[in-house]
Amino acid sequence: MASEAATKRAWSRRPVILTLGLTVLIGLSLLAAQVARSRAAADFVQRAEAALPLADAALSAVIEKQRLIPLVLARDPEVTALLLAPSLAAEERLDAKLADIAADAGSAVLYVVNKDGMAIAASNADRPESFVGSSYGFREYFIGAMERGTAMQYALGTVSRRPGLYLTRRVDGPDGPLGVVVVKVEFDELEARWRSGGFVVVTSDAAGTVIATTEPEWRFGKVPGADDTAQPAIPVVVEADGLYLLSRTATDGRAARYAGAGSPVGSAAPDWHLSIYVPVDTALGRAARNAALMTLLAGLLACAGLVWLQRRRRFARALAVMNLELERRVAEEVAEREAAETRVRRVREELAQANRLSILGQITAGVAHEINQPVAAIRTYAENGQQLLDAGDAGEARDNLGAIVRVTERIGGITRMLRGFARRGTAPIGAVAVDEAIDGALALLAGRIRDAGVRIDRPPPRPGLTVLAGQIRLEQILVNLLSNALDALRGRPDPGIVLSIDATPERVTIRVADNGPGLDPRMRESLFMPFSTTKETGLGLGLVISGDLAREFGGSLALEPGDGPGATFVLELQRASADARGAAA
Ligand code: ADP
Repeated sequence: MASEAATKRAWSRRPVILTLGLTVLIGLSLLAAQVARSRAAADFVQRAEAALPLADAALSAVIEKQRLIPLVLARDPEVTALLLAPSLAAEERLDAKLADIAADAGSAVLYVVNKDGMAIAASNADRPESFVGSSYGFREYFIGAMERGTAMQYALGTVSRRPGLYLTRRVDGPDGPLGVVVVKVEFDELEARWRSGGFVVVTSDAAGTVIATTEPEWRFGKVPGADDTAQPAIPVVVEADGLYLLSRTATDGRAARYAGAGSPVGSAAPDWHLSIYVPVDTALGRAARNAALMTLLAGLLACAGLVWLQRRRRFARALAVMNLELERRVAEEVAEREAAETRVRRVREELAQANRLSILGQITAGVAHEINQPVAAIRTYAENGQQLLDAGDAGEARDNLGAIVRVTERIGGITRMLRGFARRGTAPIGAVAVDEAIDGALALLAGRIRDAGVRIDRPPPRPGLTVLAGQIRLEQILVNLLSNALDALRGRPDPGIVLSIDATPERVTIRVADNGPGLDPRMRESLFMPFSTTKETGLGLGLVISGDLAREFGGSLALEPGDGPGATFVLELQRASADARGAAA
């Protein structure tokens, strides 16, 4: 009952628990997604940071290599000679030399500018875009070099309109500066390499102006946080934790998330800054999705596991309840059976008692006869005694008195036996001598046997042969069998009863056979059922009780099969073992 109510309560709570569990699970999944996202983001930031020194090294290597060229050329006597005394032949020679060096070193253009700012020799002199004859006196890289010896400027070419880095070195003559050697480096190749690596790279100068970059549209724009706002800011929005939103025309111009890292460029250009961005949007999404999915899955699995566990526990509980119920029922059945057995035993005892009384009644007639005769004899002896005393014959009178004593002894014996028979035999089972039991039974029926003139055929005595029984109850069985035989023999010619004994080490069989009419088949069937009798005054209990008593002793009573003359009853009993001997009752 209580468990049923609990189950009902559990059922009514189920939707609430379900909703709660689902909410928690979804919350956990979102949390896991968040964690996975920031983990992945951190990973990508690390990747950008790792790429940073490589990009820096590549950039620095290009700059360092190109920086050497004006340094060497500034001391070249050919350059000095041309600046001191320009001539067409010398110029053509230097043009060729510059072209060679530029080709070898991968410089965009290499040229020499005189102190008035006019280019007098150039690596591209033989081409239409030749710098020779152009004036560069206004350019920062020329003015700077003339003033300080060297200069560096990132700018668009005045002629080519192509961006590049100008590295310059002043050429000094004996009477002061003669001019400037200029090398222009273009970063197209480097930028292409960065781009093909999937990176977005932005370098900026001290003012925060974008120079070399993978995004051509951003060149000369301002990096975020730069002071100068005259130039447009590049579309890089700083987010938290090393993440940035970039809108690149190269892709679709829409803002996408990148992990970024930046640092100052090395010694080649100390006031430059290099930033690298790695696209993360899809990766972050994937990581978050995966984490959420895994968490959800794990949660569902855990739920399934919990449900399974609960089911199992419930099942075990049900099993335990069933076991208890079973035990209770078994106990009930045992108790019921015991009660029934007690009832049967009581009924059996009552029947035994009734049977005993019935037999007692039957025997009373015989006993009355047995006693009437001695009483009449006593009377005769007493009267004779009186007459003898009157006649003064004391000796004869004494003889008569002695006869009276003998006769009363006989009466006493009869009444003693009757008392013993009527007493309920409840004594414990023990070893009973077979001979004594047979003697007892025959003595009880001696009067009837004699009157009926029945011949009794006894087995030879078997002293020491004992069976497990109670003395009185065993006698009762034998009296029953003998008295039934006597009844059957009434009016038969040459009536006889044969008693026989068979013994094995375990069992003793006593047979009571008569030469009466035997039993008809119908009677055979119901023989051991109570109240089945063919006698007018019979109770039909004798054999029932006798059979019960035999079973009480661990034996059995049966009618021997076969329709031969008369009836033979077989009483089988356990032979008493040595240690049970002597406990007879
Ligand atoms: P009761 O003697 O009161 O009839 P019993 O149970 O002793 O009850 O016997 C049942 C019946 O079995 C008897 O009425 C009789 O018909 C039959 N019976 C018992 N013993 C013999 C026998 N030796 N020969 C023939 N019939 C017998």
